[in-house]
Amino acid sequence: MSTELEAVIGLEIHVQLATKTKMFCGCELSFGDEANTHTCPICLAHPGVLPVVNEQAIRYALQIAAALECEVAPRSIFHRKNYFYPDSPKAYQISQYDIPIAGAGRLGDVRIHRAHLEEDAAKMIHVGESGRIHGSGASLVDFNRGGTPLVEIVTEPDLRGAAEAAQWARLLRETVRQLGVSDVNMEEGSLRVDANVSVRPVGSEELGVKTELKNMNSFRFLQRGVEAELERQRALIEAGGTVEQETLHFDPRSGDLTSLRSKEEAHDYRYFPEPDLVPIVPTEEMLREAREALPELPAARIERYEGEGLSTDVATVLATDPETADYFERAAAASGAEAKIVANWVTGELAAALRQAGAETGAAGSKVTPEALAALVGLVAGKEISHGSGKTVLVALVTEGGGPATIVEREGLAQMAGDDGELEAIVAAAIAADPAAAERVRGGNEKAIGALVGAVMRETKGRADGGEVNRLIKQQLEL
Ligand code: ADP
Ligand code: MG
Ligand code: ZN
Repeated sequence: MSTELEAVIGLEIHVQLATKTKMFCGCELSFGDEANTHTCPICLAHPGVLPVVNEQAIRYALQIAAALECEVAPRSIFHRKNYFYPDSPKAYQISQYDIPIAGAGRLGDVRIHRAHLEEDAAKMIHVGESGRIHGSGASLVDFNRGGTPLVEIVTEPDLRGAAEAAQWARLLRETVRQLGVSDVNMEEGSLRVDANVSVRPVGSEELGVKTELKNMNSFRFLQRGVEAELERQRALIEAGGTVEQETLHFDPRSGDLTSLRSKEEAHDYRYFPEPDLVPIVPTEEMLREAREALPELPAARIERYEGEGLSTDVATVLATDPETADYFERAAAASGAEAKIVANWVTGELAAALRQAGAETGAAGSKVTPEALAALVGLVAGKEISHGSGKTVLVALVTEGGGPATIVEREGLAQMAGDDGELEAIVAAAIAADPAAAERVRGGNEKAIGALVGAVMRETKGRADGGEVNRLIKQQLEL
Protein backbone atom coordinates (compact mmCIF):
# COMPACT_ATOMS: atom_id res chain seq x y z
CA MET A 1 0.00 0.00 0.00
CA SER A 2 1.48 3.35 -0.95
CA THR A 3 0.74 6.34 1.27
CA GLU A 4 -1.34 9.08 -0.22
CA LEU A 5 0.71 12.05 -1.46
CA GLU A 6 -0.55 15.60 -1.15
CA ALA A 7 0.38 18.46 -3.46
CA VAL A 8 2.36 21.42 -2.11
CA ILE A 9 2.62 24.45 -4.37
CA GLY A 10 4.10 27.93 -4.00
CA LEU A 11 3.94 30.59 -6.69
CA GLU A 12 6.33 33.32 -7.77
CA ILE A 13 4.61 36.02 -9.77
CA HIS A 14 6.39 38.72 -11.75
CA VAL A 15 4.28 41.80 -12.29
CA GLN A 16 5.49 44.44 -14.77
CA LEU A 17 4.57 47.82 -13.38
CA ALA A 18 2.76 50.20 -15.74
CA THR A 19 4.98 53.19 -15.00
CA LYS A 20 5.72 55.70 -17.76
CA THR A 21 9.45 55.03 -17.65
CA LYS A 22 11.88 52.27 -16.74
CA MET A 23 13.09 51.36 -13.27
CA PHE A 24 16.44 53.15 -13.32
CA CYS A 25 16.44 55.39 -16.42
CA GLY A 26 14.13 57.73 -18.31
CA CYS A 27 13.36 55.40 -21.24
CA GLU A 28 9.66 54.98 -21.94
CA LEU A 29 8.09 51.57 -21.39
CA SER A 30 6.83 50.01 -24.59
CA PHE A 31 5.38 46.81 -25.90
CA GLY A 32 5.50 45.71 -29.52
CA ASP A 33 7.50 48.73 -30.72
CA GLU A 34 10.40 48.39 -33.11
CA ALA A 35 13.27 46.61 -31.36
CA ASN A 36 15.89 48.68 -29.52
CA THR A 37 14.12 52.02 -29.89
CA HIS A 38 13.62 52.53 -26.13
CA THR A 39 17.17 52.41 -24.87
CA CYS A 40 19.76 54.73 -23.37
CA PRO A 41 23.29 54.43 -21.97
CA ILE A 42 21.86 53.40 -18.57
CA CYS A 43 19.68 50.47 -19.68
CA LEU A 44 22.36 49.45 -22.19
CA ALA A 45 24.94 49.47 -19.35
CA HIS A 46 27.49 51.81 -20.83
CA PRO A 47 30.47 52.30 -18.52
CA GLY A 48 30.23 55.03 -15.91
CA VAL A 49 26.48 55.56 -15.88
CA LEU A 50 24.44 55.62 -12.68
CA PRO A 51 20.94 54.31 -12.04
CA VAL A 52 18.23 56.50 -10.48
CA VAL A 53 15.20 54.88 -8.85
CA ASN A 54 11.78 55.46 -10.38
CA GLU A 55 9.65 56.88 -7.55
CA GLN A 56 6.39 55.82 -9.20
CA ALA A 57 7.58 52.19 -9.18
CA ILE A 58 8.11 52.44 -5.43
CA ARG A 59 4.64 53.90 -4.97
CA TYR A 60 3.11 51.10 -7.07
CA ALA A 61 5.04 48.47 -5.11
CA LEU A 62 3.70 50.00 -1.89
CA GLN A 63 0.17 49.73 -3.28
CA ILE A 64 0.71 46.04 -4.03
CA ALA A 65 2.13 45.60 -0.54
CA ALA A 66 -0.95 47.30 0.97
CA ALA A 67 -3.33 45.15 -1.10
CA LEU A 68 -1.53 41.98 0.01
CA GLU A 69 -1.44 43.18 3.63
CA CYS A 70 2.35 42.91 3.63
CA GLU A 71 4.57 44.42 6.26
CA VAL A 72 6.53 47.21 4.59
CA ALA A 73 10.22 47.44 5.40
CA PRO A 74 11.05 50.86 6.85
CA ARG A 75 14.32 50.65 4.95
CA SER A 76 15.01 48.19 2.15
CA ILE A 77 17.97 47.96 -0.18
CA PHE A 78 18.85 46.82 -3.67
CA HIS A 79 21.27 44.02 -4.46
CA ARG A 80 23.10 42.96 -7.57
CA LYS A 81 22.21 39.46 -8.73
CA ASN A 82 25.09 38.40 -10.93
CA TYR A 83 24.68 36.19 -13.93
CA PHE A 84 25.98 36.03 -17.47
CA TYR A 85 23.47 36.03 -20.31
CA PRO A 86 22.89 38.44 -23.21
CA ASP A 87 19.55 39.60 -21.82
CA SER A 88 21.46 41.54 -19.15
CA PRO A 89 24.17 43.85 -20.49
CA LYS A 90 25.41 44.72 -16.98
CA ALA A 91 25.86 40.99 -16.30
CA TYR A 92 23.78 41.50 -13.18
CA GLN A 93 20.16 42.30 -12.44
CA ILE A 94 19.35 44.96 -9.87
CA SER A 95 16.99 43.20 -7.50
CA GLN A 96 16.32 42.95 -3.79
CA TYR A 97 17.67 40.15 -1.67
CA ASP A 98 17.55 39.88 2.09
CA ILE A 99 15.64 43.10 2.79
CA PRO A 100 12.75 43.34 0.30
CA ILE A 101 10.39 46.30 0.27
CA ALA A 102 7.49 44.07 1.40
CA GLY A 103 7.53 41.19 3.86
CA ALA A 104 4.89 38.80 5.13
CA GLY A 105 1.30 39.28 3.99
CA ARG A 106 -1.71 37.38 2.75
CA LEU A 107 -4.27 37.19 -0.02
CA GLY A 108 -7.28 34.98 0.63
CA ASP A 109 -6.09 31.74 2.19
CA VAL A 110 -2.53 32.03 0.92
CA ARG A 111 0.28 33.64 2.87
CA ILE A 112 2.62 35.97 1.01
CA HIS A 113 6.26 35.37 1.85
CA ARG A 114 7.56 38.61 0.38
CA ALA A 115 7.39 41.02 -2.54
CA HIS A 116 10.38 42.84 -3.94
CA LEU A 117 11.28 45.34 -6.62
CA GLU A 118 13.61 44.53 -9.48
CA GLU A 119 14.24 45.26 -13.15
CA ASP A 120 13.17 43.08 -16.06
CA ALA A 121 15.72 41.57 -18.44
CA ALA A 122 15.85 42.32 -22.16
CA LYS A 123 13.89 40.08 -24.48
CA MET A 124 15.69 37.33 -26.35
CA ILE A 125 14.44 36.26 -29.74
CA HIS A 126 15.78 32.97 -31.06
CA VAL A 127 15.56 32.57 -34.81
CA GLY A 128 16.40 29.83 -37.26
CA GLU A 129 17.94 26.56 -36.21
CA SER A 130 19.33 26.66 -32.70
CA GLY A 131 22.67 25.32 -31.57
CA ARG A 132 24.61 26.41 -34.63
CA ILE A 133 27.31 29.04 -34.73
CA HIS A 134 27.46 29.23 -38.49
CA GLY A 135 24.27 28.60 -40.35
CA SER A 136 20.75 29.79 -39.92
CA GLY A 137 20.54 29.94 -36.12
CA ALA A 138 20.87 33.18 -34.19
CA SER A 139 19.73 34.82 -30.99
CA LEU A 140 18.68 38.44 -31.12
CA VAL A 141 18.27 40.84 -28.21
CA ASP A 142 15.60 43.53 -27.93
CA PHE A 143 16.58 45.89 -25.12
CA ASN A 144 13.23 47.71 -25.06
CA ARG A 145 12.04 45.50 -22.20
CA GLY A 146 15.34 45.64 -20.31
CA GLY A 147 14.97 47.74 -17.18
CA THR A 148 11.16 47.58 -16.97
CA PRO A 149 10.10 47.80 -13.29
CA LEU A 150 8.95 44.50 -11.83
CA VAL A 151 7.48 43.46 -8.53
CA GLU A 152 8.09 39.81 -7.76
CA ILE A 153 5.54 38.37 -5.38
CA VAL A 154 6.48 35.13 -3.62
CA THR A 155 3.90 33.03 -1.78
CA GLU A 156 4.39 30.54 1.00
CA PRO A 157 3.83 26.94 -0.19
CA ASP A 158 0.18 27.07 0.89
CA LEU A 159 -1.59 25.82 -2.24
CA ARG A 160 -2.73 22.20 -2.29
CA GLY A 161 -3.75 21.53 -5.87
CA ALA A 162 -3.36 22.60 -9.49
CA ALA A 163 -6.87 24.03 -9.83
CA GLU A 164 -6.55 25.84 -6.51
CA ALA A 165 -3.25 27.36 -7.64
CA ALA A 166 -4.75 28.61 -10.91
CA GLN A 167 -7.80 29.99 -9.09
CA TRP A 168 -5.66 31.85 -6.59
CA ALA A 169 -3.43 33.23 -9.35
CA ARG A 170 -6.58 34.60 -11.01
CA LEU A 171 -7.53 36.31 -7.76
CA LEU A 172 -4.06 37.82 -7.50
CA ARG A 173 -4.16 39.05 -11.09
CA GLU A 174 -7.57 40.62 -10.56
CA THR A 175 -6.38 42.26 -7.35
CA VAL A 176 -3.35 43.81 -9.06
CA ARG A 177 -5.44 44.80 -12.07
CA GLN A 178 -7.89 46.68 -9.90
CA LEU A 179 -5.02 48.59 -8.32
CA GLY A 180 -4.25 49.95 -11.77
CA VAL A 181 -0.50 49.43 -11.33
CA SER A 182 -0.01 46.88 -14.12
CA ASP A 183 -1.62 45.69 -17.35
CA VAL A 184 -1.43 42.12 -15.97
CA ASN A 185 -1.56 40.74 -19.50
CA MET A 186 -0.20 37.20 -19.41
CA GLU A 187 0.13 36.84 -23.17
CA GLU A 188 2.21 39.99 -23.41
CA GLY A 189 4.22 38.95 -20.38
CA SER A 190 3.21 41.76 -18.04
CA LEU A 191 2.18 39.05 -15.57
CA ARG A 192 4.31 35.90 -15.43
CA VAL A 193 3.79 32.98 -13.10
CA ASP A 194 6.32 30.35 -11.98
CA ALA A 195 5.03 27.41 -9.97
CA ASN A 196 7.08 25.51 -7.37
CA VAL A 197 5.72 22.02 -7.02
CA SER A 198 6.34 19.16 -4.60
CA VAL A 199 4.45 16.29 -3.01
CA ARG A 200 4.58 14.79 0.46
CA PRO A 201 2.77 12.10 2.43
CA VAL A 202 -0.55 13.38 3.75
CA GLY A 203 -0.06 14.41 7.37
CA SER A 204 3.65 15.16 6.98
CA GLU A 205 4.84 18.66 7.97
CA GLU A 206 8.10 18.41 6.09
CA LEU A 207 8.40 19.77 2.57
CA GLY A 208 9.35 17.46 -0.26
CA VAL A 209 11.95 18.30 -2.92
CA LYS A 210 10.42 20.81 -5.34
CA THR A 211 10.70 21.52 -9.00
CA GLU A 212 10.01 24.87 -10.60
CA LEU A 213 7.81 25.31 -13.66
CA LYS A 214 8.81 28.47 -15.48
CA ASN A 215 6.69 31.11 -17.08
CA MET A 216 3.29 29.64 -17.72
CA ASN A 217 1.55 32.20 -19.89
CA SER A 218 -2.08 31.39 -19.14
CA PHE A 219 -3.98 30.15 -16.11
CA ARG A 220 -5.13 27.10 -18.03
CA PHE A 221 -1.55 26.17 -18.87
CA LEU A 222 -0.55 26.83 -15.27
CA GLN A 223 -3.16 24.37 -14.09
CA ARG A 224 -2.28 21.76 -16.71
CA GLY A 225 1.46 22.14 -16.15
CA VAL A 226 1.13 21.69 -12.40
CA GLU A 227 -1.22 18.73 -12.91
CA ALA A 228 1.30 17.06 -15.23
CA GLU A 229 4.17 17.70 -12.83
CA LEU A 230 2.23 16.38 -9.82
CA GLU A 231 1.44 13.25 -11.77
CA ARG A 232 5.08 12.83 -12.75
CA GLN A 233 6.30 13.25 -9.16
CA ARG A 234 3.69 10.87 -7.75
CA ALA A 235 4.53 8.19 -10.30
CA LEU A 236 8.24 8.64 -9.66
CA ILE A 237 7.89 8.29 -5.89
CA GLU A 238 5.46 5.40 -6.12
CA ALA A 239 7.98 3.60 -8.31
CA GLY A 240 10.59 4.04 -5.56
CA GLY A 241 12.43 6.97 -7.14
CA THR A 242 13.17 10.46 -5.82
CA VAL A 243 12.38 13.89 -7.19
CA GLU A 244 15.34 15.98 -8.22
CA GLN A 245 15.39 19.73 -7.75
CA GLU A 246 15.31 21.27 -11.19
CA THR A 247 13.70 23.89 -13.38
CA LEU A 248 11.21 22.59 -15.90
CA HIS A 249 9.47 23.87 -18.99
CA PHE A 250 5.92 22.74 -19.70
CA ASP A 251 4.88 22.56 -23.35
CA PRO A 252 1.11 23.01 -23.40
CA ARG A 253 0.83 21.62 -26.92
CA SER A 254 2.47 18.27 -26.26
CA GLY A 255 1.93 18.20 -22.50
CA ASP A 256 5.67 17.42 -22.12
CA LEU A 257 7.84 18.58 -19.26
CA THR A 258 11.48 19.17 -20.14
CA SER A 259 14.35 20.00 -17.83
CA LEU A 260 15.87 23.45 -18.43
CA ARG A 261 18.60 23.23 -15.83
CA SER A 262 19.31 21.95 -12.40
CA LYS A 263 18.25 24.66 -10.01
CA GLU A 264 20.80 27.32 -9.09
CA GLU A 265 21.25 28.35 -5.47
CA ALA A 266 21.38 31.90 -4.13
CA HIS A 267 25.16 31.69 -3.67
CA ASP A 268 25.56 31.03 -7.40
CA TYR A 269 24.44 34.62 -7.98
CA ARG A 270 27.02 36.25 -5.69
CA TYR A 271 24.44 38.72 -4.44
CA PHE A 272 25.96 41.90 -3.04
CA PRO A 273 24.50 45.29 -2.06
CA GLU A 274 24.09 47.70 -4.98
CA PRO A 275 26.58 50.49 -4.23
CA ASP A 276 25.06 52.98 -6.70
CA LEU A 277 21.60 53.21 -5.10
CA VAL A 278 20.40 54.59 -1.80
CA PRO A 279 18.06 52.54 0.42
CA ILE A 280 14.30 52.78 -0.09
CA VAL A 281 12.81 54.57 2.91
CA PRO A 282 9.10 55.12 2.30
CA THR A 283 7.73 58.24 3.97
CA GLU A 284 4.55 58.27 6.08
CA GLU A 285 2.89 60.17 3.26
CA MET A 286 3.80 57.44 0.73
CA LEU A 287 2.48 54.70 3.00
CA ARG A 288 -0.76 56.55 3.69
CA GLU A 289 -1.28 57.32 0.02
CA ALA A 290 -0.76 53.64 -0.90
CA ARG A 291 -3.37 52.55 1.66
CA GLU A 292 -5.84 55.23 0.66
CA ALA A 293 -5.53 54.38 -3.04
CA LEU A 294 -6.88 50.87 -2.40
CA PRO A 295 -10.29 50.19 -3.90
CA GLU A 296 -12.47 47.51 -2.34
CA LEU A 297 -10.50 44.51 -3.54
CA PRO A 298 -11.92 41.26 -4.96
CA ALA A 299 -11.28 39.13 -1.87
CA ALA A 300 -13.16 41.62 0.32
CA ARG A 301 -15.97 41.95 -2.20
CA ILE A 302 -16.42 38.19 -2.47
CA GLU A 303 -16.72 37.99 1.31
CA ARG A 304 -19.24 40.84 1.46
CA TYR A 305 -21.40 39.35 -1.32
CA GLU A 306 -21.37 35.92 0.29
CA GLY A 307 -22.61 37.64 3.43
CA GLU A 308 -25.50 39.03 1.36
CA GLY A 309 -26.47 35.50 0.36
CA LEU A 310 -24.80 35.25 -3.07
CA SER A 311 -23.22 31.94 -4.05
CA THR A 312 -19.41 31.83 -4.09
CA ASP A 313 -19.43 31.44 -7.87
CA VAL A 314 -21.65 34.45 -8.51
CA ALA A 315 -19.80 36.51 -5.90
CA THR A 316 -16.51 35.66 -7.62
CA VAL A 317 -17.79 36.51 -11.09
CA LEU A 318 -18.94 39.91 -9.85
CA ALA A 319 -15.89 40.65 -7.72
CA THR A 320 -13.59 40.09 -10.67
CA ASP A 321 -15.62 42.48 -12.82
CA PRO A 322 -16.03 45.69 -10.80
CA GLU A 323 -18.13 47.51 -13.43
CA THR A 324 -20.71 44.74 -13.47
CA ALA A 325 -20.49 44.51 -9.68
CA ASP A 326 -21.32 48.21 -9.34
CA TYR A 327 -24.20 47.69 -11.78
CA PHE A 328 -25.48 44.81 -9.67
CA GLU A 329 -25.31 46.94 -6.53
CA ARG A 330 -27.35 49.73 -8.14
CA ALA A 331 -29.94 47.23 -9.39
CA ALA A 332 -30.12 45.51 -6.01
CA ALA A 333 -30.59 48.87 -4.28
CA ALA A 334 -33.42 49.74 -6.68
CA SER A 335 -35.11 46.36 -6.29
CA GLY A 336 -37.25 44.98 -3.53
CA ALA A 337 -36.09 41.45 -4.38
CA GLU A 338 -33.30 39.62 -2.56
CA ALA A 339 -29.77 40.59 -3.61
CA LYS A 340 -29.11 36.98 -4.59
CA ILE A 341 -31.99 36.96 -7.10
CA VAL A 342 -30.85 40.24 -8.65
CA ALA A 343 -27.25 38.94 -8.84
CA ASN A 344 -28.42 35.79 -10.60
CA TRP A 345 -30.25 37.90 -13.19
CA VAL A 346 -27.20 40.09 -13.76
CA THR A 347 -24.71 37.23 -14.17
CA GLY A 348 -27.18 34.79 -15.74
CA GLU A 349 -30.09 36.05 -17.84
CA LEU A 350 -28.72 39.53 -18.57
CA ALA A 351 -25.25 38.24 -19.47
CA ALA A 352 -26.89 35.68 -21.79
CA ALA A 353 -29.14 38.30 -23.42
CA LEU A 354 -26.12 40.54 -24.03
CA ARG A 355 -24.18 37.67 -25.55
CA GLN A 356 -27.12 36.72 -27.72
CA ALA A 357 -27.39 40.30 -28.99
CA GLY A 358 -23.64 40.32 -29.71
CA ALA A 359 -23.28 43.31 -27.38
CA GLU A 360 -19.75 44.65 -27.01
CA THR A 361 -20.32 46.01 -23.53
CA GLY A 362 -21.10 44.40 -20.22
CA ALA A 363 -24.22 45.18 -18.24
CA ALA A 364 -22.86 48.58 -17.22
CA GLY A 365 -22.50 49.90 -20.75
CA SER A 366 -25.73 48.35 -22.04
CA LYS A 367 -29.13 49.95 -22.70
CA VAL A 368 -30.57 48.06 -19.75
CA THR A 369 -30.41 50.47 -16.83
CA PRO A 370 -30.03 48.99 -13.33
CA GLU A 371 -33.46 50.46 -12.55
CA ALA A 372 -35.05 48.70 -15.55
CA LEU A 373 -33.49 45.39 -14.52
CA ALA A 374 -34.71 45.90 -10.95
CA ALA A 375 -38.23 46.56 -12.22
CA LEU A 376 -38.09 43.44 -14.40
CA VAL A 377 -36.91 41.25 -11.53
CA GLY A 378 -39.77 42.69 -9.49
CA LEU A 379 -42.34 41.76 -12.18
CA VAL A 380 -41.08 38.17 -12.27
CA ALA A 381 -40.77 37.84 -8.49
CA GLY A 382 -44.29 39.24 -8.11
CA LYS A 383 -45.51 36.69 -10.66
CA GLU A 384 -46.84 39.45 -12.89
CA ILE A 385 -44.94 37.87 -15.76
CA SER A 386 -43.46 34.39 -16.07
CA HIS A 387 -39.74 33.77 -15.88
CA GLY A 388 -39.72 32.91 -19.59
CA SER A 389 -41.46 36.18 -20.44
CA GLY A 390 -38.92 37.96 -18.27
CA LYS A 391 -36.16 36.70 -20.54
CA THR A 392 -38.13 37.85 -23.61
CA VAL A 393 -38.47 41.32 -22.09
CA LEU A 394 -34.77 41.38 -21.31
CA VAL A 395 -33.87 40.67 -24.93
CA ALA A 396 -36.07 43.62 -25.94
CA LEU A 397 -34.52 45.87 -23.27
CA VAL A 398 -31.03 45.02 -24.52
CA THR A 399 -31.85 46.29 -28.01
CA GLU A 400 -34.22 49.16 -27.29
CA GLY A 401 -33.72 50.23 -23.66
CA GLY A 402 -36.61 51.79 -21.75
CA GLY A 403 -38.66 50.13 -19.04
CA PRO A 404 -40.04 46.59 -18.85
CA ALA A 405 -43.68 47.61 -18.26
CA THR A 406 -44.13 49.07 -21.74
CA ILE A 407 -42.71 45.94 -23.35
CA VAL A 408 -44.89 43.64 -21.23
CA GLU A 409 -47.93 45.69 -22.28
CA ARG A 410 -46.99 45.89 -25.96
CA GLU A 411 -46.14 42.18 -26.29
CA GLY A 412 -49.13 41.08 -24.18
CA LEU A 413 -46.85 39.19 -21.78
CA ALA A 414 -48.80 39.78 -18.57
CA GLN A 415 -48.99 36.48 -16.79
CA MET A 416 -52.22 34.56 -17.18
CA ALA A 417 -53.94 34.24 -13.85
CA GLY A 418 -54.85 30.69 -12.85
CA ASP A 419 -58.37 31.58 -11.88
CA ASP A 420 -59.73 33.46 -14.88
CA GLY A 421 -60.80 30.34 -16.74
CA GLU A 422 -58.60 30.87 -19.80
CA LEU A 423 -55.59 28.98 -18.42
CA GLU A 424 -57.85 26.24 -17.04
CA ALA A 425 -59.33 25.75 -20.50
CA ILE A 426 -55.88 25.53 -22.10
CA VAL A 427 -54.83 22.93 -19.52
CA ALA A 428 -57.96 20.90 -20.16
CA ALA A 429 -57.32 21.01 -23.91
CA ALA A 430 -53.71 19.88 -23.43
CA ILE A 431 -54.85 16.91 -21.35
CA ALA A 432 -57.48 15.98 -23.93
CA ALA A 433 -54.92 16.22 -26.75
CA ASP A 434 -52.45 13.82 -25.08
CA PRO A 435 -54.41 11.15 -23.22
CA ALA A 436 -51.37 8.83 -23.15
CA ALA A 437 -49.30 11.37 -21.18
CA ALA A 438 -52.26 12.06 -18.91
CA GLU A 439 -52.56 8.33 -18.23
CA ARG A 440 -48.88 8.01 -17.35
CA VAL A 441 -49.12 10.93 -14.92
CA ARG A 442 -52.18 9.35 -13.32
CA GLY A 443 -50.21 6.12 -13.07
CA GLY A 444 -47.62 7.87 -10.91
CA ASN A 445 -45.04 8.84 -13.58
CA GLU A 446 -44.08 12.31 -12.33
CA LYS A 447 -41.84 13.05 -15.29
CA ALA A 448 -44.64 12.54 -17.81
CA ILE A 449 -46.18 15.80 -16.61
CA GLY A 450 -43.45 17.64 -18.54
CA ALA A 451 -45.13 16.89 -21.86
CA LEU A 452 -48.39 18.44 -20.67
CA VAL A 453 -46.68 21.48 -19.12
CA GLY A 454 -44.77 21.96 -22.37
CA ALA A 455 -47.95 21.90 -24.40
CA VAL A 456 -49.58 24.51 -22.17
CA MET A 457 -46.47 26.72 -22.33
CA ARG A 458 -46.46 26.56 -26.12
CA GLU A 459 -50.13 27.44 -26.26
CA THR A 460 -49.72 30.38 -23.85
CA LYS A 461 -46.44 31.47 -25.44
CA GLY A 462 -44.77 31.20 -22.05
CA ARG A 463 -47.11 33.61 -20.32
CA ALA A 464 -48.26 31.07 -17.76
CA ASP A 465 -46.46 30.41 -14.49
CA GLY A 466 -44.92 26.92 -14.52
CA GLY A 467 -45.90 26.17 -10.92
CA GLU A 468 -49.44 27.26 -11.55
CA VAL A 469 -49.67 25.08 -14.68
CA ASN A 470 -48.38 22.09 -12.73
CA ARG A 471 -50.95 22.69 -10.02
CA LEU A 472 -53.83 22.96 -12.52
CA ILE A 473 -52.81 19.78 -14.37
CA LYS A 474 -52.73 17.79 -11.14
CA GLN A 475 -56.01 19.33 -10.07
CA GLN A 476 -57.70 18.36 -13.33
CA LEU A 477 -56.25 14.84 -13.20
CA GLU A 478 -57.58 14.64 -9.67
CA LEU A 479 -54.18 13.87 -8.17
P1 ADP B 1 14.26 29.10 -4.15
O1 ADP B 1 15.42 29.32 -3.26
O2 ADP B 1 14.35 27.89 -4.96
O3 ADP B 1 13.85 30.30 -4.91
P2 ADP B 1 12.40 29.62 -2.08
O4 ADP B 1 12.50 28.98 -0.76
O5 ADP B 1 12.83 31.03 -2.24
O6 ADP B 1 13.08 28.72 -3.15
O7 ADP B 1 10.89 29.51 -2.51
C1 ADP B 1 10.48 29.89 -3.77
C2 ADP B 1 9.01 29.50 -3.92
O8 ADP B 1 8.88 28.09 -3.82
C3 ADP B 1 8.10 30.06 -2.87
O9 ADP B 1 6.87 30.39 -3.49
C4 ADP B 1 7.90 28.90 -1.92
O10 ADP B 1 6.65 28.96 -1.30
C5 ADP B 1 7.96 27.74 -2.83
N1 ADP B 1 8.45 26.51 -2.20
C6 ADP B 1 9.54 26.38 -1.41
N2 ADP B 1 9.70 25.09 -1.06
C7 ADP B 1 8.70 24.39 -1.65
C8 ADP B 1 8.33 23.01 -1.68
N3 ADP B 1 9.04 22.09 -1.06
N4 ADP B 1 7.25 22.67 -2.40
C9 ADP B 1 6.54 23.59 -3.07
N5 ADP B 1 6.83 24.88 -3.09
C10 ADP B 1 7.90 25.30 -2.38
MG1 MG C 1 13.16 31.90 -6.30
ZN1 ZN D 1 17.15 53.54 -20.70
